Amino acid sequence: MRIDLHTHSTASDGTDSPAELVRAARTEGLDVVALTDHDTTGGWAEAVAALPTGLTLLRGAELSCVSLSPTGSRVTLHLLAYLFDPTEAAFVAEQRRLRGSRLDRGRQIVERLAADGYPVDWDAVRELAGDGSVGRPHIARLLVRVGVVSSVGEAFERILHPSSPYYVAKQDTEVLTAVRMVRAAGGVPVFAHPLARHRGRVVSDEVIAEMAAAGLAGLEVDHPDQAPADRAQLRGLAAELGLVMTGSSDYHGVNKAVRLGAQRTDPAAYEAIVARASGLAPVVG
Ligand code: AMP
Ligand code: FE
Ligand code: FE
Ligand code: ZN
Repeated sequence: MRIDLHTHSTASDGTDSPAELVRAARTEGLDVVALTDHDTTGGWAEAVAALPTGLTLLRGAELSCVSLSPTGSRVTLHLLAYLFDPTEAAFVAEQRRLRGSRLDRGRQIVERLAADGYPVDWDAVRELAGDGSVGRPHIARLLVRVGVVSSVGEAFERILHPSSPYYVAKQDTEVLTAVRMVRAAGGVPVFAHPLARHRGRVVSDEVIAEMAAAGLAGLEVDHPDQAPADRAQLRGLAAELGLVMTGSSDYHGVNKAVRLGAQRTDPAAYEAIVARASGLAPVVG
């Protein structure tokens, strides 16, 4: 079984539509794919409708979270959530709030860039994002289009990284609250790329232990942005805390070089995730 539990479509910052994504997943020989757009379930219906025979779809999302230390420092992090009930009121409201925050901060980033002479405007970003959850990759694509940079990656390295003067933070959900919210909606929370260090600061083992105590089910160990030594550390931590280990591509279409199925999850880990869910079942194509 070839299983990839972390992908993005045009419902957030990927470049394949949900229908294109599930078709591509089958073409790449996957048996199971999870659709995990940032802070939205907006791509689910199209993915279900287009699901090819032989492919199983796990409906999920990737939640934007923050860990606040007692000293006041903030570390942003991403929480994958699988098979939660998409009608659970508190959870729906929180995702809507976050998508609103993405709009506000996206506009602020674009205003800062424009004030400094970059040829960008908010309408063009909105057009690139369509109905999707807006993120920095949409601003990055506009910067490529107007010739300021030659790739999305370069836009992040030079202009959109967290310590840039143009960066504005979103109003992310406190991570222990998010873990509890996913569980309350019958979903299964897995910490996405916990040690993807080039994206900024990462949380300590103590924070991961607190997340586990709050109901975290797993850690994403095999991910393109995690070094071998960090994966080894995560394997140790998962064993110690009784967490499931996953592996996934974090596919974003042409926004990133990685292919669907480039990293994969063991069938036993996948079965453990499905067994813990009480919100939804996988959709079998
Ligand atoms: P945002 O959610 O708006 O804060 O933007 C974060 C998203 O940007 C991540 O989900 C990735 O898809 C993308 N991203 C972050 N760093 C890079 C990078 N170096 N190159 C390409 N995409 C990136
Ligand atoms: Fe993304
Ligand atoms: Fe992520
Ligand atoms: Zn992701």
